[in-house]
Amino acid sequence: MYKKGRAWIELNIGNLKHNIEQFRSLLPFDCALMPAVKANAYGHGAVPVAHALQNEGIHAFCVASLAEGIELRLSGITGEILVLGYTHPAEFSDLIAYDLIQTVIDGDYARQMQDDGRRFTVHVGIDTGMHRLGERWDNMKEIVRIFRMPNLKVTGVFSHLCVSDGQSKEERTYTMQQIHHFECVVEELYRQGFRDFKCHLQGSYGILNYSQCCFDYARAGIALYGIYSAKNDHTKAAVELRPVLSLKTRVESVKTLYHGEGAGYGLTYSARGNRRIAALSIGYADGIPRELSNSGYVLCNGKMAPIIGRICMDQMLVDVTDIPWAKAGDEAVLIGRSGDLEIPAEEVAQWAGTISNEIVSRLGKRLERVVE
Ligand SMILES: *Cc1c(COP(=O)(O)O)cnc(C)c1O
Repeated sequence: MYKKGRAWIELNIGNLKHNIEQFRSLLPFDCALMPAVKANAYGHGAVPVAHALQNEGIHAFCVASLAEGIELRLSGITGEILVLGYTHPAEFSDLIAYDLIQTVIDGDYARQMQDDGRRFTVHVGIDTGMHRLGERWDNMKEIVRIFRMPNLKVTGVFSHLCVSDGQSKEERTYTMQQIHHFECVVEELYRQGFRDFKCHLQGSYGILNYSQCCFDYARAGIALYGIYSAKNDHTKAAVELRPVLSLKTRVESVKTLYHGEGAGYGLTYSARGNRRIAALSIGYADGIPRELSNSGYVLCNGKMAPIIGRICMDQMLVDVTDIPWAKAGDEAVLIGRSGDLEIPAEEVAQWAGTISNEIVSRLGKRLERVVE
């Protein structure tokens, strides 16, 4: 089958390797990367990305759900796979069957696992200030109780930073406090004789802005894919990251729209002067935000083609008046490079009023993932 049919994602594995090296150079030598490959590797394709990472010597991964962990295991990923989120007790048997590590999301959840009767490998989540998942850092009694549960084999303890992307004095103070809370928990566990567990705290921005931290793993997500959450994110780290993903589609049809004619659902666009317009075979069901209706542009033959009309479920329209040689069958680039121009994911996120994490993680199942 010709993979580049209708709409597709191209993965630049060379850029992924480059980003891995940048992160490795930033982190202490004994801190290993534990990439976040949840949400289909932020839309990139969990299986091809995880295998590329495994080929680079990475042996620990994190996912959001049990099903994501199973997908990786079935595809031949052999390292540790940590499920960061909630798993229903009715599905606990799959944790064992697929050798997955479950996050203990609080003390009550630990008791549920303990009472199940089988033995599970877990990492204990600690709430150091985000107040999402994790047992409270200052509830040391409960944390120790979890560590002592005979049916839980605790091989790790971790927390998550919630303002590590920010550079204000308040945000830096809050993050330093979270780091301190986490270190207090780890030290107390050591004092009580627990030694045989890994610690991890940082996501992408924790690595980029607090690279002096010294833990066993770092859970790099968005930045490992060469993408910043927002266009104007400033980080402390002197790294150069390269985008792994390009998003491309096909020009299906080109036609003339005469002065005053409307186009698309609701006729929200109307032509001023005669225009050449092109229909592209990608839409919001593929993850193109409907917020891009009548805003932003795509690249076609190295030139900008403004988006016109409403984004449809499976298609969208662009204005190619200034690209007279554009024709059916041409490629159009929604994220990535064409000639001398480039649309970064951060730019699309800004047009849509969101962060690039949301843009890429919503890229749909219909898009083929093509490894370049
Ligand atoms: C998603 C996630 C990460 C990765 O975050 P990035 O900001 O994308 O690097 C790390 N840890 C946890 C708990 C997460 O949910």
